[in-house]
Amino acid sequence: MYQCLCCGCYTLPVPPEDAIAYICPVCFWENDVFIKSDNEPSDENHGLTLQQARKNYAEYGACCLEMKQHTRRPTEDETGECTMLHNEIEKTLVEAGSVVTDLLASLKPAPYKPDEETPKEMITFDRTETDNSKWKTLLAEYLKTAKAFEIHCWNEEAEWIEVAMQYGTLKESDWQYGKIITGPVTKEFAKMLLNIPKPTDTELENKMTPFFNVFLDESFSSSHYGTEIYYDGN
Ligand SMILES: [Zn+2]
Repeated sequence: MYQCLCCGCYTLPVPPEDAIAYICPVCFWENDVFIKSDNEPSDENHGLTLQQARKNYAEYGACCLEMKQHTRRPTEDETGECTMLHNEIEKTLVEAGSVVTDLLASLKPAPYKPDEETPKEMITFDRTETDNSKWKTLLAEYLKTAKAFEIHCWNEEAEWIEVAMQYGTLKESDWQYGKIITGPVTKEFAKMLLNIPKPTDTELENKMTPFFNVFLDESFSSSHYGTEIYYDGN
């Protein structure tokens, strides 16, 4: 429904510019598509202007006193309170929806390596771990023989993306929330990885390394900042 230009109630079934000669049942103003302003006399309404009609409606609930007998009170729908409330709720739902969508999208984990059929052993480093020496020992073992690495960082971890990029190149991926860097396992790379001190931002995870995921060949992976290690059991 559309608002009557005189009383403002939602009584027009079509927009005012299309509601030719439609008479509002609430104020009895005859919608005039030919007037161009609020103070132009309307032939449809015996020379009354919209301005006068609105004043009259405010005063006696009709566009003019002569029409008073034909008018009626607006329904709740017509006053627009329901419409406004409905629009407000709709808007809130849409906003809440997009927040949730964004939130879910941001929770999307980094893609795991696709070729992961071999059963792996798993070690977790929990809060009791006060340093990253065990993580380093385990990593060092695999760094000796590994040929290639792959590192996953979230986009906001620019500093660590930059570090990883010194040893490899960006790999194309559809992970829009982070970067994947791959490269050869060199002595320099191993040194860098083993010499980064244990991160101090451990509120969310007791990080062993600032790198979210580190993969070495197909045999070793350090996930969730080194709190979960998967490796070949043999
Ligand atoms: Zn009206």
